[in-house]
Amino acid sequence: MSQSILILGAGESGVGAAKLALALGDIPYVSEGGKGKAHFIGELDSAGVAYETGGHTPENWPTFTTVIKSPGIPDSSPTVINLKKNGAEIISEIEFASRHASGKVIAITGANGKTTTTAMIHRMLTDAGINATCVGNIGPSWARDLAERKTDADVTVVEASSFQLDGTTSFRPDVAVLLNITPDHLDRYAYKMENYAAAKWKITQFQTEKDFLVYNSDDNEIEKLISNKGTKASLAPVSSIKSLQTDLIDQEMFHAGLTNKKKEFTIHTPHKKPFSMTIQKLALQGKHNLFNSMAASVTGRILELRSEGIRESLTHFEGVEHRLEYVATINSIRFINDSKATNVNSVWYALECMKTPVIWIAGGVDKGNDYRDLLPLVEEKVKHLICLGKDNSKLIETFSSKVDTVHMAESAEEAVQIAYDLGMPNETVLLSPACASFDIFGSYEERGNKFKNAVKGL
Ligand code: ADP
Repeated sequence: MSQSILILGAGESGVGAAKLALALGDIPYVSEGGKGKAHFIGELDSAGVAYETGGHTPENWPTFTTVIKSPGIPDSSPTVINLKKNGAEIISEIEFASRHASGKVIAITGANGKTTTTAMIHRMLTDAGINATCVGNIGPSWARDLAERKTDADVTVVEASSFQLDGTTSFRPDVAVLLNITPDHLDRYAYKMENYAAAKWKITQFQTEKDFLVYNSDDNEIEKLISNKGTKASLAPVSSIKSLQTDLIDQEMFHAGLTNKKKEFTIHTPHKKPFSMTIQKLALQGKHNLFNSMAASVTGRILELRSEGIRESLTHFEGVEHRLEYVATINSIRFINDSKATNVNSVWYALECMKTPVIWIAGGVDKGNDYRDLLPLVEEKVKHLICLGKDNSKLIETFSSKVDTVHMAESAEEAVQIAYDLGMPNETVLLSPACASFDIFGSYEERGNKFKNAVKGL
């Protein structure tokens, strides 16, 4: 029987949910608090979906059984609070999509590395000739993918944010990958790390004994969750610091660690030959990408992919735009676009893998950052800091005594020009902002593209 579904937000996940609802024979109604983006509104018009924009007006809403809330709308919004008071079931778009999906589901979450690891796993699957799709934060919403595809995917790889996981009530991936839990989006979690960690833990909450949890065993927050909250899934620990542990091999657990004097990593697969790969052969270098590659490889082995295929995929993986993306070398100055580094932890990894003196472009909308973790790396590697944000006071206060000079820029073009003027041969200009982009740019993609265009225009 068809049911009415209220969808809050007309972005990618809201429009995707509306399309899936229609495909299922349900009646969606979309309520958008802002103006709405023209192409999404156009899609609703052509699909014949009823909607409102410019505010949520409950008196206009049809009677509904379920509410699908877009990840951008916080639980603290008055509309959500009222809906909850009235006892509505409020779910996220991935919860809705998961109820209507078939095939195996791999879900990836973490503060950093989600998109990279999701793309790696998807690449391994497609290289192996498997009919796999890649959805969630990385691109099309899962609901849209289900609504628009002609044949079912055999494996769906979902990049799941904490906001999407917050609204799950039964979502059960066959393999969950939990990369790391470091502070991010704390503004949405009452500035409490435990609330944010609890949202991430929902990735495994509904898993059963048949499922797997691939997780970062170097991460204290995750270890705490395993002992305090527990999971029914089989654990598959991954460490990019520690050696492969014989006790875990004896227990026949999927398990990944370093081998051969830390020059290789090895995946133990129960009752099968181990899979090893030389770290230098990985297409994506840097400590964080070593971890991402290991997590993707364990997932590949759980899905019974051949070792040789995994090795090939990891040797040829090109990386994802705006993540430590090499742009150009001009007069022996290298330019790197890491616009997606919107929190402190991702900048830590970016600076950690820089091998030459750095001219660092940072700043934007600070989501409650604590910059102290960066101080030693900035002192060691950064020569000049260029602040690219409207309010740069916290950056200046924290780092001005650690770098030679500090500069202000109001646009990507200006930042690139200042960096180029300061740069000496064999130095690196790194855009790795530690902040969201919305004060000056529409998105981190726009920030990264403007940076790249400015570099190319030098
Ligand atoms: P997400 O989708 O979780 O935001 P991305 O793969 O888009 O992650 O990468 C975002 C930023 O984090 C980039 O600057 C990237 O270099 C960095 N990063 C990638 N993987 C990790 C990791 N495992 N730990 C810390 N930082 C990472």
